[in-house]
Amino acid sequence: MIVMLARMASDPNDVINRANQVLIANYARWPIEMRRGEGSRLWDQNEKEYIDLFAGFGGCVLGHCHPELIRAAQEQAAKLWHVGNSFHSEPQVEFAERLKKHSFDGRAFFCHSGLEANEAAVKLARLRGLADGGKKWKTVSLIKSFHGRSLAMISATGNPAVKEGFGPPVPGFINVEPMDFDALEKAIDDETCCIIMEPIQGEGGVNLFPIEHVARIRKLCDDRKLTLIFDEVWTGGGRTGEWFGYQWFKQGGSIIEPDIMTMGKAIGGGLPVAGMWAKPDVAKLLVPGKHGCTLGGNQICMKVAKTIFDVIERDDLLNHAKKLGDIAMNRLKREPRLASKAKEVRGHGLFIGIEFEEEPKDLIPKALEKGVVVNVTYKKIVRLAPPINISEKDLQIGLDRFIDAIDA
Ligand code: PLP
Repeated sequence: MIVMLARMASDPNDVINRANQVLIANYARWPIEMRRGEGSRLWDQNEKEYIDLFAGFGGCVLGHCHPELIRAAQEQAAKLWHVGNSFHSEPQVEFAERLKKHSFDGRAFFCHSGLEANEAAVKLARLRGLADGGKKWKTVSLIKSFHGRSLAMISATGNPAVKEGFGPPVPGFINVEPMDFDALEKAIDDETCCIIMEPIQGEGGVNLFPIEHVARIRKLCDDRKLTLIFDEVWTGGGRTGEWFGYQWFKQGGSIIEPDIMTMGKAIGGGLPVAGMWAKPDVAKLLVPGKHGCTLGGNQICMKVAKTIFDVIERDDLLNHAKKLGDIAMNRLKREPRLASKAKEVRGHGLFIGIEFEEEPKDLIPKALEKGVVVNVTYKKIVRLAPPINISEKDLQIGLDRFIDAIDA
């Protein structure tokens, strides 16, 4: 028995083999077990090192095992983990104060995942639609969007592959072409309560919107008394070099704001933290009994989230993300080995998409072989979203490896 255990412990693929016996195979996993992380680097079961240019789908905004986040979590864990939302607790208030400081005036609701945040936002928009005296309950969203995997959010998501196999869509969700303003206008009727969109479409391929288009959507919402929801799950928390993606929509000295924004991923730095931030006159409709989340606003998560915002501010990481994003995009645009293959390099800050002319075959395994983690969406679009505190040196090494993988 002891001999068998010792052999299993020394088999580098032990965890991978065991995983197949106990985990549902809903994720396409590579035969790699990540064992350790530090900053922008990861190490696998064979001690092979990787530069992480995707940060756990954008979650690890300050990289792996940031010492201040460890300390914040440990200190809070020793004090109070969870009490339930029948009580007040300072970590929630502190984090919500950071949201207020770095975005528009609002009020927070906390949960664990982006999809839950979006569900909350659509429910709140429906309450507002009803409060408006009408029977407004429908949501218009955009093709190539992604809003999560619940039944309602796959209906909001503008990607047929995500909906397939789950029966008829939840009623009240209409998907329209992202850049077709006329189609958007036509999709709105007297029963529409909200439009939901990402400031930059993430899963759709790092698709940016011209500010004029967003301004027209904002005006349409104002004219038709619709709630505008920005899904900031990818773009919130400093990823783009602004606190939130909407802050890129600057027009004549003012910024185009949503009525509600949702967030996830980066705001928890890899912990399950998500939330909805709504303007006070909208937020006031969510009264007791209308919505909730048992572990939402968990004290450890909130303390870490607050600390992330403080570190980003203190270390001027928004400017760092902008600077490094520009360096990376300029390099990728000029890279001779990409010239004939890459159609466009786009993004803001450290949220970068490289659209290829043709599907780069086996890119991910080749990149992993070279020692870099990247992601591909919609077959032809490579996404880079490293920790925003990555050093220029690590970023350049990661890009070297990525470019080598493209060439391999
Ligand atoms: N919204 C956007 C824009 C996303 O990119 C995602 C996930 O990738 C979600 C919502 C869903 O978030 P979660 O997986 O945390 O439910």
